[in-house]
Amino acid sequence: MASNRGIVYIGPGKVEVQGINYPKFVSPNGKEIDHGVIVRILSTNICGSDQHMVRGRTTAPPGLVLGHEITGEVIEKGHDVEFLEIGDLVSVPFNVACGRCRNCREQKTGICLNVNPARPGGAYGYVDMGGWVGGQAEFVMVPYVESLAVLISAPCIWMIITRSPVERPPIAYGLTELVKVVALLRSLILDIVTAVSPALAGLVKALYRFIITEEPLLL
Ligand SMILES: [Zn+2]
Ligand SMILES: [Zn+2]
Repeated sequence: MASNRGIVYIGPGKVEVQGINYPKFVSPNGKEIDHGVIVRILSTNICGSDQHMVRGRTTAPPGLVLGHEITGEVIEKGHDVEFLEIGDLVSVPFNVACGRCRNCREQKTGICLNVNPARPGGAYGYVDMGGWVGGQAEFVMVPYVESLAVLISAPCIWMIITRSPVERPPIAYGLTELVKVVALLRSLILDIVTAVSPALAGLVKALYRFIITEEPLLL
């Protein structure tokens, strides 16, 4: 089996990079998942909210794999994943959400009713958020991937230009390298703009999100 490593919470003030299980298509309560993908993480983040756990202000259990900001390449996909392909680059929001419950249909995906038995709302790598394994790791499983993950790609922009919400254009296939170049160019442009004016960088980011998702990302 392929190996994996992740940032594991040990106790207040202490985290460690440890060997962790390679992700399976299984939910924290043991249910098989066909609507997910395995992502090889290319970029992740330390969130301010991780500090609540790391500094011991929560009931986070030792052994929790942290990380809920995830961008990476799809390397395996479940049977029910229709529109993403192996090699696609996806960005995943902090929350896990089914996309089909009442709250999700009202776009309140932060309080999805189906991803955390304890209460509404689930997230990766976070205490009391359903037990989903975090993404400060080499590999992570992203469930319900087509309800929330954002495809970062030239084809995505093409789809928006052509206003084709359902059909994926033929050029969407086999463009992994181009996809990575687009992502790299974006970050390069952002670095330059940030150096010139952080305020302008915020505007560019918002515009990029609007182009990619057609709606502002409310995080
Ligand atoms: Zn966060
Ligand atoms: Zn839901």
